Amino acid sequence: GRLLVDAFLGANPGGGWLDPVLTAQLLECYGLPLTLSIWAPDEHAVVLAAQSLRQLGHDGRVALKAYWQGQVHKSAAGAVRTGLTTDAEVRSAYREFTQHFGDRMAGAVVQPMAGPGLELLAGVVQDQVFGPLVVFGLGGTATDVMDDRSARLAPLTERDLSTMITDLRSAPLLLGRPGLPGVDLAAVGRVLAGLSRLAADLPEVVEADLNPLIARPDGLACVDARIRLE
Ligand code: ADP
Ligand code: MG
Repeated sequence: GRLLVDAFLGANPGGGWLDPVLTAQLLECYGLPLTLSIWAPDEHAVVLAAQSLRQLGHDGRVALKAYWQGQVHKSAAGAVRTGLTTDAEVRSAYREFTQHFGDRMAGAVVQPMAGPGLELLAGVVQDQVFGPLVVFGLGGTATDVMDDRSARLAPLTERDLSTMITDLRSAPLLLGRPGLPGVDLAAVGRVLAGLSRLAADLPEVVEADLNPLIARPDGLACVDARIRLE
């Protein structure tokens, strides 16, 4: 983690957003795996990537995301297509991206579809006064509609890990009850603990955003993450 941050800030003295590959590598250092994400530079590579994901034996549906440097809100910009099944669908989605985004686009990322599940978010933000906070809450399309979040100073205690979950208004959706399965709380705890270690080790991480984490009773997948260093 430290080596990666120093190398990035050496090359980018003002800081900035990590690209998708560096983002995945930094998260990996803290046991925070992203869903398999293949970066493909052109149409041919995108179609090959989708084919190889299909051969890996999941249900065959993929997500395609246009990539350009410094992008922030992909779906608001029209840069995310989900549930693509055939080569033709993948190819035409990629062509629409190139027409729409033009030269600033630098390829696309192909992922297997995750879920269905409950969309959560987790991240790190820097508080001007108190330092790094770990944030947790409802994510995905519900992020702005519901605004259901909890936050604690890093490093998190064992107690923080459980109260960050129970503090949410949506806690019953996570904990479950008879007839409602809930989500994999151990996996949620591992994500929060990993972010806590990352925040405590690397004060240069001014913003980290894992959104959504798609949580199911038997596991959790992070399909989108962004990290900004300063
Ligand atoms: P952004 O947050 O930049 O708009 P995301 O990569 O989070 O872009 O994609 C937007 C939404 O698309 C996600 O909140 C999720 O609902 C859906 N999505 C994206 N990638 C996947 C995937 N691999 N599997 C399932 N759903 C996905
Ligand atoms: Mg997102």
